[in-house]
Amino acid sequence: MAKHWSVDPTEALRADGIQIAELDTSATPGFKGKKKAGQSLLAERTQVLSDLQEKLYASGRSGDSRSVLLVLQGMDTAGKGGIVRHVIGSVDPQGVDHAAFGVPTRAEKRHDFLWRIRKRLPEGGQIGVFDRSHYEDVLVARVHELVPESVWRPRYTEINAFERELVDSGITLVKVALFVSLDEQRRRLLERLNRPDKYWKFKPADIDERAYWPDYTEAYQAVVDRTSTKGAPWYVVPADHKWYARLAVTELLIDALEQLQLDWPPADFDIKEQKRRLRDE
Ligand code: ATP
Repeated sequence: MAKHWSVDPTEALRADGIQIAELDTSATPGFKGKKKAGQSLLAERTQVLSDLQEKLYASGRSGDSRSVLLVLQGMDTAGKGGIVRHVIGSVDPQGVDHAAFGVPTRAEKRHDFLWRIRKRLPEGGQIGVFDRSHYEDVLVARVHELVPESVWRPRYTEINAFERELVDSGITLVKVALFVSLDEQRRRLLERLNRPDKYWKFKPADIDERAYWPDYTEAYQAVVDRTSTKGAPWYVVPADHKWYARLAVTELLIDALEQLQLDWPPADFDIKEQKRRLRDE
């Protein structure tokens, strides 16, 4: 059990059976403390994450083909950027492969929806981060009818087959969906309009998207219902409290890395001999 948690985060946040429309986005499932305790634990746990990541990177350099892939989804302002900066930002950048997926380019549109995703899968030893992902093709694509239902509906099955392939190839998937309330989103959008250092984050279209909230909720529900599998489960993270969302994702990553039972790679040289060479220089 992770420290200060009454229920392990992998249990408390697992999507199984969750009703997203009823989710309390200001809750802190499984965590016993308040903000101060959460923040101080976060500082401690990012260090643990950083040590584990170094082991993963070292193993990759020694030929271990395993990797971890964090898939981040969430409506605008849900805090994906903050997770990338504060959680992923705490580990050695050479071991991180960050990919953000926006509106597909013309070249990308000529291919199957998984084409651009396959190109950005993490190499052995890396923590890959998908800031949005192939799930946009059953979220925004479904909500805005960018493709007919006959195209998006089979994608759930295609995604499950794809992810099974990834898991079999040694990629541990950590799929996280962040949720804020409609009110919290308004507050965050207003903050962007009130602060010159945040204007760059604001797009007028973000306000238009609010009208589709129920449709997105339904589309997210379908995602967790249809693509949360044993090998690649979804975690649903209430994100009104940024400190909680960051701590939760940190714990989920720590758990994924611990499952790999990483060790420092052994020396592939004779230590005594190398010491002798240095002594006798
Ligand atoms: P974010 O909102 O993630 O912080 P951003 O506002 O800087 O990012 P971009 O990264 O340029 O914007 O693009 C994000 C937008 O791209 C989102 O509106 C998202 O719905 C859209 N998008 C991502 N993937 C797809 C897709 N497969 N089809 C259509 N739109 C997509």
